[in-house]
Amino acid sequence: MPAEHQELKTENLVILGSGPAGYTAAIYAARANLKPLLITGFQAGGIPGGQLMTTTFVENFPGFPNGVQGPELMDLIKAQAVRWGTKLIEEDALSMDLSQRPFTINTSTQSIKSNALIIATGASANRLGVKNEKQFWSKGISACAICDGATPQFRNEELSVIGGGDSACEEAEYLTKYGSHVHLLVRSNKLRASAAMADRVKANSNITIHWETELLDVEGKDWLEKLKVKKRNTSQEDEISSKGLFYAIGHTPNTSLFSDQLDTDQKGYLLTMPGRPETSLEGVYAAGDVADSEWRQGVTAAGSGCKAALAAERWLTKNNLASIIDREELEPTKTESSNTVEMSSESNFNSNKIWQKGSYALRKLYHESQKPLFVIYTSSSCGPCHILKPQLLRVLKESEGKALGIEIDIEKDQDIAKQAEISGTPTVHLFKSKELKHQWKGVKARSEYKSALDQLIKD
Ligand SMILES: Cc1cc2nc3c(=O)[nH]c(=O)nc-3n(C[C@H](O)[C@H](O)[C@H](O)COP(=O)(O)OP(=O)(O)OC[C@H]3O[C@@H](n4cnc5c(N)ncnc54)[C@H](O)[C@@H]3O)c2cc1C
Repeated sequence: MPAEHQELKTENLVILGSGPAGYTAAIYAARANLKPLLITGFQAGGIPGGQLMTTTFVENFPGFPNGVQGPELMDLIKAQAVRWGTKLIEEDALSMDLSQRPFTINTSTQSIKSNALIIATGASANRLGVKNEKQFWSKGISACAICDGATPQFRNEELSVIGGGDSACEEAEYLTKYGSHVHLLVRSNKLRASAAMADRVKANSNITIHWETELLDVEGKDWLEKLKVKKRNTSQEDEISSKGLFYAIGHTPNTSLFSDQLDTDQKGYLLTMPGRPETSLEGVYAAGDVADSEWRQGVTAAGSGCKAALAAERWLTKNNLASIIDREELEPTKTESSNTVEMSSESNFNSNKIWQKGSYALRKLYHESQKPLFVIYTSSSCGPCHILKPQLLRVLKESEGKALGIEIDIEKDQDIAKQAEISGTPTVHLFKSKELKHQWKGVKARSEYKSALDQLIKD
């Protein structure tokens, strides 16, 4: 265990995972005055907020008659959990010991003891592992069309999706907004998607379905250019020209961390008592996709999170293990609605404003400001961008005005994104005196941005 680990007091309840299951469990446990500690996850098994951070409109979550963007829904559920007193740790759990009580859960910086545990670590997108996959990962290959589809390299180009289920169909449809044509590679001779979704894809003249087709490998120079494919059960090989390849080939439950300590099924899903959240070990509960290979929906995950929290509360109480917190106020403070930042223009530009949006602010600050500048490239449907923006804002606030941030929406400012050679969102550039000092793709730990910025401020 790293030397910087700190020993903490024993928690009532630790929740692993920040998807709908984890946050819903947290809402119930927090309202039961258990002050739960929720480890959000970071990279090991998907991003904070879980799978719904990678989708656009969620049309079937109750309470949103007009649908809601996945990342927005997760922001709201998180705010509700935090409002009632959930403590968050934005890290991955890296190891755990369930053989002794209280249980021990280790992150890279902390060793946490807890009397009860709810596992809501969800599931992760599968990869195919073809030979050149690594070389072209994020240079044409992506596991999230919704996150990366809008990047300039994919505009008006031929794109491909692999898979035959709902996700594959949704992604193929979505990509027709950006690509010149979409190829859907399906291993069998039928789509597993819902009938309505399958019919939509079949009727779309911008999508070609390649039945019984397997991917052999991918090729290109700096960027993906073509797919090598083969007809199943034949030796007939072919090539499909493609600047983008999006995987939608299912998920694997995130159970490797504890599969030797708890019972799982053959595919690795956690086993629980029928219709209940109890796992094979007393005091450990499972919620959401990690224990559900069948229903796998936001609302079913949330429902099972509720059950897990209620079961944990009853068990802690029965065994006299719950230390109940006293609330200073019965009604917690209302959460603030997220403020939307207006696009900067000549009339509202302010050279000292810590966070601005758009190409006008970028040009002004790039040419005129002596301060380090974070430029974050986002797109409207990018879930990880939702996680990154508050982190960067916090780093900027901690710098007390010594650095500034500019957000560029790559759909609204396509020329800038092209010039900056942005290949996916989020991408962060850190500039000082017009010089690019650092570049990050995807979401990194807040400390990475902070230490790079602190170094620049010091220099
Ligand atoms: C593209 C797409 C579109 C979808 N659309 C819909 C829809 O419209 N409606 C609907 O109801 N459902 C939809 N779903 C399904 C839905 O997203 C899932 O069923 C739901 O998110 C499962 O919730 P969960 O909380 O169980 O897990 P997840 O959402 O998978 O969350 C798991 C959490 O665990 C964390 N984690 C993993 N490993 C660790 C670790 N070692 N330590 C700490 N934390 C960890 C992850 O970071 C993540 O926060 C969609 C899924 C996808 C992929």
